Amino acid sequence: MEDLLNLTIAQLHQGFKDKKFISTEATRAYLDQIKKTDEKIGAYLTVTEELALKQAKKADEIISSGKDFPMLCGVPCSIKDLILVEGEKCTAGSKILENYVAPYDATVITKLKAQGAVILGKTNLDEFAMGASTENSAFKVTKNPHDLTKVAGGSSGGSAAAVAAKQAVYSLGSDTGGSIRLPASFCGVVGLNPTYGAVSRYGAIAFASSLDQIGPLAKNIEDAKIIFEAIKGRDPLDATSVEAPISNFKFQISNLRIGIPKEYFKKGIDPEVEKIIKNAIAKAKEQGAKIVEISLPNTEYAVACYYIIAPCEASANLARFDGIKYGKSVQGGNNLLDVYLKSRGQGFGAEPKRRIMIGTYALSSGYYDAYYKKAQEVRKLLQQDFREAFKKVDVIFSPVSPFTAFGVGEKADDPLAMYLVDVYTVAVKLAGIPALSLPVGKVGKLPVGLQIIGNYFEENKILGVGEAMEKMIQ
Ligand code: GLN
Repeated sequence: MEDLLNLTIAQLHQGFKDKKFISTEATRAYLDQIKKTDEKIGAYLTVTEELALKQAKKADEIISSGKDFPMLCGVPCSIKDLILVEGEKCTAGSKILENYVAPYDATVITKLKAQGAVILGKTNLDEFAMGASTENSAFKVTKNPHDLTKVAGGSSGGSAAAVAAKQAVYSLGSDTGGSIRLPASFCGVVGLNPTYGAVSRYGAIAFASSLDQIGPLAKNIEDAKIIFEAIKGRDPLDATSVEAPISNFKFQISNLRIGIPKEYFKKGIDPEVEKIIKNAIAKAKEQGAKIVEISLPNTEYAVACYYIIAPCEASANLARFDGIKYGKSVQGGNNLLDVYLKSRGQGFGAEPKRRIMIGTYALSSGYYDAYYKKAQEVRKLLQQDFREAFKKVDVIFSPVSPFTAFGVGEKADDPLAMYLVDVYTVAVKLAGIPALSLPVGKVGKLPVGLQIIGNYFEENKILGVGEAMEKMIQ
């Protein structure tokens, strides 16, 4: 049985086809692995065993009919617990939604179900996806499977840990400022943040709507590509989604121009991490790629800009959790305002409260121009930085994080230190472009991710380059 846990989506698909094993066996193997390991790791908030076995049985029927079946049919996955799966709890890692049961499927789930996917459960996250370590979850801390004293990264820490600990073949996470790429980097799996609008956000609990994107976490690039293909596309239920003009990309490594942003290798990066990233760049160069130093001059403003825009949007999005419409409702006051105050006061943890306050402040009439408007102007400059860069290069390489996974508790009481973890991931989001994290080495036991950044809707290009890098690194 152990073997089934090592297989990729493509290998499982082939195995089902060749009748080597069935989906129910694979699903049981993963459910057993969750039972054996999750007490220590804490990747799952809910295990949907009944749903998984029902879906596996259905997948086995489809597969045994002998007709062609979709790539994800019968393949067990996990879902970040802010993406709605009908009939299952969806907490967003928050007490305010502790007992909320999703009344419908997110569009990405409808798409997975249409392929015959098997959903093992819902994975842990920082509350409302606000964080970089999954320590902000109201329920538990997810540990890094490579070293249980370290964090898994966040906010999709449960998703990344589940894939790394072989508790799911793949997972769906969401990335607002780095939340797919960072945990992927810390846990040594592949994570893809798609172009803004390439994947529907319908049915994902909103954090910052101009930044949120759902994307895959997987064992390798090939799997990430399969999942992206399955979930992308315009959705009439999400007006910001588009039918992505994602072209097939063929390239020779000898024609590839790789940009290295000089601002990303300044002070603050761990020398061991830098060495591994530089080594990956050197390998690409050996194969004939052209390495071009580029400048993204406004990089130093990205974190500040993000931590205005994201909290502003969050303060508006989180207004709906008022003790009346959704989730937790604390009664016992004298009037409606009391219900609001008590429900929100007891339901939200420290980080959402902090962001609601920052966002409300930055949007208030006296400060709007100084903060929100200014941040939007900086956002434009960051977009221009990338536009200029992509005139000169095909892709950009950088670290995902300046360091490997940090210790549980190390930054938990220091919100500013936690915000600075995002230095290499937020600019991409403010620009709306795609980027992935690919494991390219380790410092001791802890994985290091290479970030490959592409221009708008060039997912296939970064995935193609990622695949070539994957082969070079092995
Ligand atoms: N760490 C960032 C934040 O706390 C990013 C989170 C995310 O991408 N969801 O906002």
